[in-house]
Amino acid sequence: MKESAALYDLIIVGGGPAGLTAAVYATRKMLNVLLITENIGGQVLYSLNVENYMGYQFISGPDLMDRFEKQVEKYNVPRKFAQVKSVGKESDAFVARTETDDEYRSKTIIIATGKRSRTLNAKGVERFVGRGVSYCATCDAPLFMDTDVAVLGGGNSAFTAAYELTRIARKVYLINRSPWKADEVYLEKIREAANIDLLVGYELIEVKGDDAVNAAVFKNLSDNSLVSFPVTGIFIEIGLISNSDVVRDLVTLNENGEIVVGYDCSTSVPGIYAAGDVTTVPEKQIIVAAGEGAKAAIGAYKYLLKEGLHADVGY
Ligand SMILES: Cc1cc2nc3c(=O)[nH]c(=O)nc-3n(C[C@H](O)[C@H](O)[C@H](O)COP(=O)(O)OP(=O)(O)OC[C@H]3O[C@@H](n4cnc5c(N)ncnc54)[C@H](O)[C@@H]3O)c2cc1C
Repeated sequence: MKESAALYDLIIVGGGPAGLTAAVYATRKMLNVLLITENIGGQVLYSLNVENYMGYQFISGPDLMDRFEKQVEKYNVPRKFAQVKSVGKESDAFVARTETDDEYRSKTIIIATGKRSRTLNAKGVERFVGRGVSYCATCDAPLFMDTDVAVLGGGNSAFTAAYELTRIARKVYLINRSPWKADEVYLEKIREAANIDLLVGYELIEVKGDDAVNAAVFKNLSDNSLVSFPVTGIFIEIGLISNSDVVRDLVTLNENGEIVVGYDCSTSVPGIYAAGDVTTVPEKQIIVAAGEGAKAAIGAYKYLLKEGLHADVGY
């Protein structure tokens, strides 16, 4: 274990819109900040087409995050590319431990770790990720031009992905275990497409292939029979999971694993703040996450002032 001697005013975990915005706001308050993240950009890197971030009528996700990154660089925020495994609380500091057992200490901490795609445990799924199995229709759809694909899931994101794919693939199977949960507007839209089959009551059993996917085997839950679809692409769109494990034993989470936050992004533990998709704040959007990141940084700054741990910078 390598322990950093420094005691930061603030550690930010996560380099998506929430974490990067928090870094800019905190540094402008003269806080001594460390940003620990696995990557810069988070989920936005998977969005080819952002049309609802104010100031840009259209921008790709990677380009938008590049601009966020440049703004952070202007403030020389120290960065450590690592996965935080856990966050602990000691008498005088919070301790962020990475997967390589490095430890970083701070007076306050912001958790901005976002969400990740929920996966399926069926045979072959993991083996074929990137070789036919995808969690991002927006990113990978063009790879399946004029082929047959399956989209798994029954909510709005599955319907959006399936609709997108009907315009690229030859044939799309939209398949779910249980009844559709998508809003009526998505159901109506999908009915317009001629090249889609909707199947309810089927469970993925196995993904088959050699170098890449060539079939998906499902169980028909009404009679337990097996049916194989000759698809080259399988898009798993069964929802997102909060990346809140790092503070699971420390702060209050809701039933969905989201960190419960107050209006100022405070959590159940004084000094720990959270922002963006990982929290209970409704609407998981870039602009919301960025705004929450700003609020969390100001919240942490005010906490430091209240505790007499930092000087008032006067603005
Ligand atoms: C395909 C797709 C398209 C989308 N399109 C749009 C759109 O057009 N418009 C829109 O407004 N929103 C869109 N969204 C939603 C938007 O991307 C999210 O709301 C936003 O990214 C949330 O930001 P965040 O900072 O809270 O989390 P994230 O973007 O999830 O970032 C989390 C960060 O934390 C890091 N991290 C996670 N765990 C750890 C750990 N243990 N240790 C260290 N680092 C960690 C990650 O590497 C990442 O950098 C889209 C999402 C997807 C998946």
